[in-house]
Order: sequence, then C-alpha cells, then structure tokens
Amino acid sequence: AKQQGRKTHAFYSSEIMASAVERVLIERGLREALIGQQLELYYQPQVDMVSGHIVGMEALLRWHHPERGLVQPDAFIGVAEETGLISEIGRWVIQQGCRQARLWREQGFTLGYLWINVSPRQILHNGLEDAIAQSLKDNQLPSGAIQLGVEITESLLQSMPHSTEVLSKLRALGVRIAIDDFGTGFSSLSLLKQLPIDVIKIDKMFVRHLAFDSDSQAITAAMISMTHTLGMGVVAEGVETIEQLGFLREQRCDVVQGFLLGAPLTVSQATQVLIEHREG
Ligand code: C2E
Ligand code: CA
Ligand code: CA
Ligand code: CA
Repeated sequence: AKQQGRKTHAFYSSEIMASAVERVLIERGLREALIGQQLELYYQPQVDMVSGHIVGMEALLRWHHPERGLVQPDAFIGVAEETGLISEIGRWVIQQGCRQARLWREQGFTLGYLWINVSPRQILHNGLEDAIAQSLKDNQLPSGAIQLGVEITESLLQSMPHSTEVLSKLRALGVRIAIDDFGTGFSSLSLLKQLPIDVIKIDKMFVRHLAFDSDSQAITAAMISMTHTLGMGVVAEGVETIEQLGFLREQRCDVVQGFLLGAPLTVSQATQVLIEHREG
C-alpha cells in the first residue's frame, strides 16, 4: 500500500510539473505572439431573429502558434489572466477590433455592433475605459462613431466593487455592455439589478439541449422573458439546429448566433459574408 501511495504521489507531482511547464511555455509564447503578430481576430455574425439581418459581429481571438498551429482561446486565456498578460492582449483586441470596424465602415458595410470579449481582469486592473477611449481616438473616431460592445463573463463581476463605475464610464463612451455566459454563474439575478447592462447572452450550454430537455427549455424561456421585462436585449449563442432556432423564435429571443447562422470567420471570409448580405 505504501508503494502504491508513493507511486500515486509521483504521478501527481509529474502531472503538476507538466502543467507548470506548459504554463511557462504558454506565457513565454504569448509574449512572443504579441510581438510577432501571431494573434488574429475571427468574427462571428449575430443575426436578428425577426429581420434576418446581421446586427453584429463578435470578435473571437485566435493564436497562430509557430509549432502548434491555430490555438483556441480556451487554451491560453486562463494563463493570460493569471500572468496579467491579458491586459496587453486585451488592448490589442480592442485596437484590432476597432480598426476592423472602421475599415468595414469605410467600405460601406453596415455590420451593426462589433462585440469584443473582455476579461473581468481587465476591469479589475483599471484602464479598460482608457484603452477603449484611446482606441476610438486612434481610429480618429469620435465616441459613438463605432458601434462597440463588450461581452463580460458574469463570474467575478459581482465581487468587484468598482464594476458599476467602469461599466458606466464605458456606456458614457457609447459602448454597449453584454453579460456573457449568462446562467452559468451564481450571481445572475442580483447582477442584473446592480450593473448597467444592455444585453444578456444565454450560454450555449442551455441552447445545446433545447430540442429534447424540458428543463433547458423552461430556463431559456424564463431568461428571455425576464431579460425583456428588465428592458434588455437577449442573444442566444451556440445555435446549431433548426429546432433550437424554432424554439428561440417562439420565445421571442432577439438575436441568434451559432454555427447554423455562421461560424467564426477570418476577416476576408467575414467580408465576403457582408458583401453577400448587402446584395441580399
Ligand atoms: P464565448 O465568448 O462564450 O464565445 C463562444 C464560443 O463558442 C466561441 O469559442 C465560439 O467560437 C464558439 N461557438 C460559436 N458558435 C458555436 C456553435 O454553434 N456551437 C458551439 N459548440 N460553439 C460555438 P472560442 O472562439 O473558442 O472562444 C472561447 C472563449 O474564449 C470565449 O467564449 C471567450 O470567453 C474567450 N475569448 C475569445 N476571444 C477572447 C478575447 O478576445 N478576449 C478574452 N478575454 N476572451 C476571449
Ligand atoms: Ca462572448
Ligand atoms: Ca459562452
Ligand atoms: Ca466564455
């Protein structure tokens, strides 16, 4: 038994070592990624349920790793948050997103809101509203000229006393605020009352089971009606099937997003979609 115990211990510590090494590698790689232009934003359309028009694009981060190829954000955002690199990455995302929104504008596209994902860490570390104001300035845009939105995960938000202040400042810049992954945390309802919020995004975890799970249906229906009662908009993410779309339409969800409507796209692919959309 003693032998066994030692083996288990050795196994765990080598796992911990491996993940520690992996973290260091990711951290070092991310620093290089920022310098070496290995980051890219993909864009996923958001579609109005009634008109069928594209009313927004969500910017989603990708990392072109020199050895590993295309890396998805779930593999590195956590490390970026722990190491504080998220601030610099976040600034890059803001700059790049605003720049692309300006370019699309200049090309005559109406893409509605450009949504970027913001880590609660960026709110905690101050400077989010400055970075956004600066970015609007860099693109020679008066505040409000770009329809910009930020998506913030509900977890952590509530525990930050100055969230309300930061979000209010963003709103004063003309930025819309969405709560991401809504329903997956524990603080949902009180958050809605406390914070200046424009849009709720229903997490794909609920959308996934809509066709066959009556609990997911009930929760989704309740979230939509509650959001509307509070005067906010509601977006459902992760819509993959006609059945899911049908249920969301019946419940009067405002906007839908997901593989059924379009996957996250490169700039040139997204531009193509905007061209086709314009031509009807
Ligand atoms: P999220 O904001 O909840 O984004 C939704 C995720 O679902 C995205 O994964 C998207 O590609 C994926 N998705 C879209 N449609 C569908 C669908 O129909 N079915 C399924 N199964 N998935 C779908 P992605 O791009 O890997 O991003 C993962 C998470 O990484 C995001 O979750 C967000 O929390 C974070 N993230 C992405 N970009 C950024 C960024 O620029 N900054 C920060 N701080 N976080 C980011
Ligand atoms: Ca999001
Ligand atoms: Ca989500
Ligand atoms: Ca998320």
